Amino acid sequence: MSEVIALIFYSVIKMEVQAVTSDEIFQEWLRNADGKRLKKYFEKKKVDFKREHVSAVETVYDVSKFIVIYFKKKTPEAFAKGEDGKVETVTADKLGKYRFYDFQGKRVDFDQWKGDTSVPSLASIRRVDCQKCHGAGTIGCEKCGRSGRIKCDKCSGTGKTSCSSCKGTGSITIELDVYDANNKKRKIQKTIPCPKCGHTGSDVCSKCGGGRSVLCRNCDGGSNICKDCKGFGVYYQFKYEAVPFLSQRQSAMVFYKRDVEKFIDKKEVEQLLNSRNTSGLTLNNIEDLTQGRLVPQLNYWTPDADKICNEAKKEFKKLLKTREVEQNQKIMVFPALQLRCKSTKGKSFELFGIGSSGNFVVLSDGFK
Ligand SMILES: [Zn+2]
Ligand SMILES: [Zn+2]
Ligand SMILES: [Zn+2]
Ligand SMILES: [Zn+2]
Repeated sequence: MSEVIALIFYSVIKMEVQAVTSDEIFQEWLRNADGKRLKKYFEKKKVDFKREHVSAVETVYDVSKFIVIYFKKKTPEAFAKGEDGKVETVTADKLGKYRFYDFQGKRVDFDQWKGDTSVPSLASIRRVDCQKCHGAGTIGCEKCGRSGRIKCDKCSGTGKTSCSSCKGTGSITIELDVYDANNKKRKIQKTIPCPKCGHTGSDVCSKCGGGRSVLCRNCDGGSNICKDCKGFGVYYQFKYEAVPFLSQRQSAMVFYKRDVEKFIDKKEVEQLLNSRNTSGLTLNNIEDLTQGRLVPQLNYWTPDADKICNEAKKEFKKLLKTREVEQNQKIMVFPALQLRCKSTKGKSFELFGIGSSGNFVVLSDGFK
């Protein structure tokens, strides 16, 4: 029974990794370090300086371990598809709200690019006439026949209304007091010309002032601004074009402890690990990023290693959703060392080695 378990386990994680040693890291760094700077920081009085004089024993005063998790990721789906080719049609006033791009034949590093993978192209902007107003920006009013005025409804276009005093008759009736010989009063009615309308029976229309027409309330001077194009008469069309990335190379995700991030740029580590076949532990299941799985192969664990594992897991699961990683793809765990150094002349710097013995990468910080 125990044999079966061992077999399964063996197939998940292949073998123990011989971590890179501090001496290997130091020697590799020393081989490539700038000669002038070495001399400046390590030269001793009365001794001809030689590269071999620089020793790890005299320089490295502290060594600490950490782990590096690394997995490749594909360029996002949007890279190939995205909104590439999508045509947008907007009114003239909206054009200024877009960010247009003009790459002028230059290519862009995918990893440095902050925006979308398809962007509005400056060169693709075209003007198109509005189909509704045929480029005029306005549409004639049908209600008033484009004149801007309609027949006055109060006077039915006559300019006159019936006089309110005489009701259109032209005359009014007044009563006169008449007295007889006995001084007795009686009333008689007398018709006189209407004083208000001067016997015509009609008034000037109060609504149109006699002009027979009023302003059309359906338009502004016989026409209306075209609602489709907002009066511009034109639209603008532009295309989304794919950002010209440098190459569709794979990029990768790298995880390691925060205080090392201060010294070495993740991008640099990523590029180094991408370019070299550095060896480490290979996992095919993100769930294997646990202390229990890794310690037997690494032979050590650090207080922040759990956190790094969880960070990597979280990111991996996120990238699974966008299909930038695959469920069973390779995940590498590298042993790593941080070497704190001080030269004989007091120059402080840090060295970092990532990988296994004989197959590792070295980075330095502060040796300037
Ligand atoms: Zn229009
Ligand atoms: Zn009108
Ligand atoms: Zn009128
Ligand atoms: Zn009258």
